[in-house]
Amino acid sequence: MIAALLEAIPLPAIFISQNARVRGANTRAVSLQPNAAEDRALVLVFRQPGLISAIENCLRTSDPQKAIYLHNKDGQETRYEVTCSFVTMGEERGALACFQDITHVEQAGEIRREFVANVSHELKTPLTALLGFIETLRGPAKDDAKARERFLGIMANEASRMNRLVGDLLSLSRVEEDARMRPRDPQDIGDILGTVVQNLEEVAQMRGHRIQFEKPALPLTVPSDRDQLIQVFTNLIENGIKYGDENGQVEIRIENVERDVKLRKPAVSISVIDNGPGIDPVHLPRLTERFYRIDSHRSREMGGTGLGLAIVKHIVARHRGRMKVDSTLGEGSTFTVVLPKN
Ligand code: ADP
Repeated sequence: MIAALLEAIPLPAIFISQNARVRGANTRAVSLQPNAAEDRALVLVFRQPGLISAIENCLRTSDPQKAIYLHNKDGQETRYEVTCSFVTMGEERGALACFQDITHVEQAGEIRREFVANVSHELKTPLTALLGFIETLRGPAKDDAKARERFLGIMANEASRMNRLVGDLLSLSRVEEDARMRPRDPQDIGDILGTVVQNLEEVAQMRGHRIQFEKPALPLTVPSDRDQLIQVFTNLIENGIKYGDENGQVEIRIENVERDVKLRKPAVSISVIDNGPGIDPVHLPRLTERFYRIDSHRSREMGGTGLGLAIVKHIVARHRGRMKVDSTLGEGSTFTVVLPKN
């Protein structure tokens, strides 16, 4: 009866009798800890004092107890929260220990802490500069009209950097909020890219860049959120301009895909191809992480927030599409977004 009950618990579970020996363990518990054989002494099964004393306390006082159990397998650590409850089943009395994997909760906490630290750091730098210039304008440069003009220019730059960062953070949180709601509105991809190219023409010209784009003859429609796709292609084309050499070129290619092998659906593929410096393959897996930059100095100098590709990744995921990056150092990069047609 104990064995059947233990087996029904959807977590690793062990029943320890009052003489501190294993009375039963379900299959999940045995695969977690093969030592958990019937009649084996508790201290020989687990060698972690925190967990042993929680079970012993539970047996002694009949009160529920909690402990953390760290499991290490092939160098990978899993963290369990163990709940010990005193149980009486007919003649049997003992402690029931259930192991709940809380590794992902811990990891989520860590990611959140790291994110907050990054945001604070990114905001602190321009803020410190602003405060410094305000101080100077109130004091030493009070009556210096020329210095005032120059400092106000720098302050405006720093303030717009903060503005861009806050804008990108808001976009990111909005996309994350409706990640599960796939957009349904049919939109012509050629039309969306036409708008983006038009918007960026001036920026490109200022850096001596050429954007090469030919709108497909026939409409290629995908269910989408127009504003979000505008953001995706703006970020990708802007990166091509920002990181490309002066007088570089960004080419946009749109293709109809009968059946995308990975999405297993008909799709539209959009590639943004630049002839810039390219990206070392070691960076590719981390490129879409928030605040990941290959060259922080260059990114900041070009007004980057380090969030552009993270936003792209989330929007593409919301559209149930996929993104890939191909790049050869010294030759350029190709960012391809594939969006399903249905
Ligand atoms: P940022 O705001 O810094 O541009 P992104 O998330 O858009 O942030 O990009 C992350 C990093 O990836 C950039 O800092 C840059 O180092 C690199 N990167 C992005 N696009 C390109 C590109 N087309 N060519 C070379 N490097 C790129």
